[in-house]
Amino acid sequence: GAMSAATTPSRALHVLNTVWGYPAFRGVQSKIVERVAAGGNALVLMPTGGGKSLCYQLPSLLREGVGVVVSPLIALMKDQVDALRALGLRAAYLNSTLLPHEAREVEEALLRGELDLLYVAPERLLMPRTLELLGRAPIALFAIDEAHCVSQWGHDFRPEYQQLAELPERFPDIPRVALTATADERTRADIKSVLHLWDAPEFISSFDRPNIQYRVMLKSSPKTQLLEFIRTEHAGDAGIVYCLSRKSVDDTAKWLQAQGIEAVAYHAGLSPRERNLAQERFLNEEGLIVVATVAFGMGIDKPNVRFVAHLDLPKSMEGYYQETGRAGRDSLASTAWMVYGLADVVNVRRMLAQSDAPEEVKRVESAKLEALLTYCETASCRRQVLLAYFGETLEEPCGNCDTCLQPPQSRDMTREAQMALSAAVRTGNRFGAAHLTDVLRGNQTERITALGHHQLPTFGVGGQHDDKTWRSVIRQLLSLGYLVADDHYGLSATPKSRALLKGETRLNLREDTLLPREKVVKRGS
Ligand code: ADP
Ligand code: ZN
Repeated sequence: GAMSAATTPSRALHVLNTVWGYPAFRGVQSKIVERVAAGGNALVLMPTGGGKSLCYQLPSLLREGVGVVVSPLIALMKDQVDALRALGLRAAYLNSTLLPHEAREVEEALLRGELDLLYVAPERLLMPRTLELLGRAPIALFAIDEAHCVSQWGHDFRPEYQQLAELPERFPDIPRVALTATADERTRADIKSVLHLWDAPEFISSFDRPNIQYRVMLKSSPKTQLLEFIRTEHAGDAGIVYCLSRKSVDDTAKWLQAQGIEAVAYHAGLSPRERNLAQERFLNEEGLIVVATVAFGMGIDKPNVRFVAHLDLPKSMEGYYQETGRAGRDSLASTAWMVYGLADVVNVRRMLAQSDAPEEVKRVESAKLEALLTYCETASCRRQVLLAYFGETLEEPCGNCDTCLQPPQSRDMTREAQMALSAAVRTGNRFGAAHLTDVLRGNQTERITALGHHQLPTFGVGGQHDDKTWRSVIRQLLSLGYLVADDHYGLSATPKSRALLKGETRLNLREDTLLPREKVVKRGS
């Protein structure tokens, strides 16, 4: 940036008005801009869509030199730079997608002081050549976007981000602003330590998205449930449907199309051309539904996404928050809708167990999964559970989630839990939910007879409940960590279950009620 830093607050507002055309700052933006423009460091925690970019773009204009933006999202750099150029700013990027002569042009512009903003991938920034160049160029500030990538605790750890410790050492006097949408306390501590931000104030905005209605329901026939949801509540609306596998993305998109619903598939198995086309269509058409794996959505800034649906369980609370956060950026009423069931719990648990990640990473991932399962199974306000996970307290139940709108019944199911756990133990901790249900219900299947399980004391003790109830009990025991699943879907009782089996603790479980749709009050639309 080349503008003078004198009288920052009014100057900042003026730039906001004239360059961006926005009438006012949002929330803490003005405080951050003021501090960074004055040469201070800052740690910014703002949910996706909160307006982080402005917090470094604007100070870059107010300060002498170029604002260097470190971002891991190479695929988005070109779009970000194009958007800035459309505002009349002098922006460029350096990453591995540039041809050598293109990179040279950018470097020359940098040295001549002809850039307001420069986006750089971390691995590029850390190359001796780039560091040396930056040492010779006037620099306004360093913005470290997606700063949670420095942390092993984060869901997106990137080793090259840890090496950004190089920045404060080489450029101690240049302000650093670290930004992220997801950072629990441990991650925040890591960011501060790697980027030497101990003295930097933390600017934290609320993660609450009051216009998003959160709903989780039991998965029975996911595609039909989805269709019913779309037809009755979001006909003609733009939405994103997340599935775990490419195959289910393709199947679901085709199926929706066959039902007369405008839908397009998006996953990493498609060619870049097909992916671009899907993305373009989603941005430009009204009421298109994208069925996608998590590959879709990074940096997608479409304000009127009316719903985000999950047909499979995300891997973590962060993932869930980020994905659902793509709904309702225009602040109008939107829905975060998810179906989930026993098989999901078993599946994600297995995937975690089988991953080759180091033990420590696995432990972190499994803790994050636990939190999500707790969210799914909660009988109290979902928004309270969600915000609590991000360290925020919501005093009152929100009134705009399924559990608020129709509180689920929960009751003492200690007896049933004991029965299910002892069925697992007595059959050797290696059978799946279906077999355990047969044992509990006293179903004389061939397999039961062959294994002699009809002679167990547990056989038939649960005859008063139907299959659905037992699946629900077993799912909740899994979610709550009383049971674990092995590689072959076999369930075994965990040490946590001991106290329950001995009758030292009691357990309340919720009754699975498929939320009758008409009971859900739509708000604000
Ligand atoms: P984040 O990086 O936190 O996800 P962005 O910086 O991309 O969010 O901003 C999200 C959207 O909000 C963008 O469309 C941006 O133009 C808009 N925005 C940001 N700040 C303001 C503001 N002060 N006034 C109006 N719109 C804003
Ligand atoms: Zn609520």
